[in-house]
Amino acid sequence: MDERLERIKELDSLYVMQTYKRLPVAFVRGEGNRVWDTEGREYLDLVSGLGVSILGHSHPRVIEAIRRQAGEILHTTNLYYVEPQVELARLLVEHSFDGRCFFANSGAEANEGALKLARKHYYMLGEPRSKVVCALGSFHGRTIATLSATGQPSKWEKFGPVTPGFTHIPLNDIDAMEAAVDEETAAVMLEPIQGESGVNPASPDFLMSARSACDRYGALLILDEVQTGIGRTGKLFAHQHSGVRPDMMTLAKGLANGVPIGVLIASSKLGDVLQPGDHGSTFGGGFLACAAAVETLKVVIEEDLPGNAGRVGNKLLEKLESLKRRIPLVREVRGRGLMLAIQFDEDCARKVVLDCLERGVLVNDVTPDAVRLLPPLVISEEDALAGAGILEEVLTGLKD
Ligand code: PLP
Repeated sequence: MDERLERIKELDSLYVMQTYKRLPVAFVRGEGNRVWDTEGREYLDLVSGLGVSILGHSHPRVIEAIRRQAGEILHTTNLYYVEPQVELARLLVEHSFDGRCFFANSGAEANEGALKLARKHYYMLGEPRSKVVCALGSFHGRTIATLSATGQPSKWEKFGPVTPGFTHIPLNDIDAMEAAVDEETAAVMLEPIQGESGVNPASPDFLMSARSACDRYGALLILDEVQTGIGRTGKLFAHQHSGVRPDMMTLAKGLANGVPIGVLIASSKLGDVLQPGDHGSTFGGGFLACAAAVETLKVVIEEDLPGNAGRVGNKLLEKLESLKRRIPLVREVRGRGLMLAIQFDEDCARKVVLDCLERGVLVNDVTPDAVRLLPPLVISEEDALAGAGILEEVLTGLKD
């Protein structure tokens, strides 16, 4: 019996709100694409903390940046200038589009900032607007406003009333986009690839239709790249595949390789909308998170990790497509780069996750009938295909 795990499970059940359906394991160490549990057992990590540990675990440059920063100063608040914050803002703007950043601590908070900025923009123009068009199946966070933006009623119906003003249209329905956006629309908010509903890509034409509908009515296009951003899909930002430029983009997850951070980047024309007192965060843009993010971003760029995600992702996709041809349970394979999902014909995703865990591979049951892969962007083709090989064994076993 694993006493350490048993103790962790007991304390969790006694003292932690049971908001997560945890798997029966606790990891205590990680290095590169691998993590180790309380008994010292090794696992290949194809989840990377839900797309967070993009450089893998314990990356030496991130460790050093955190160590250096912790030894200098950890916190002063935004009452004062924060050097790593401005370095990070410069890096982000130089690699995305001209504009300014607001720093938060999570994806939901970054999206809250975007929604507040959109409302303030129209308030300043003297024509307040609060209508926001989102897609069904989207996920934008768990605060009240971002839940209201989320196009999955199961996530918000127990927490009503929702924030008014949000409408949801089917993903990739261009006619619905044309019909939904009007002179009262403040913003259209979309994920380039919906992550939490099972890796569902927005088509380039749909993104283009959002851009042109926004331009027609002066609405703002917000792209939520919390999950797709920082190289995951094969480009630094997923919208760069389509050529559609947002007015605002939000990032979080992988940005600091595991240290909590969120950021809203607003284009130049919106850079002055939020003024002192309008918005803020005690911890947002703090030294530790920003120092970790600067180093993470430098590694991503210097080592062309978006390129690696594209190359290894294509190989992985090819391999998963071959499973589709051979295993009848596999209905579809979706995604881009290292953001992939396998859709099954039945609700077997939890079983697949548990069987993979048993064989030392981490995958995620994003929905009851789909498994998602979000490996670290540093993963080698060899490791990715080895993981897919285990998945194949598991799926073949399920068939019997
Ligand atoms: N937006 C997207 C696209 C996400 O995938 C997530 C989290 O999964 C969020 C927002 C919320 O981010 P956080 O959990 O950091 O608040």
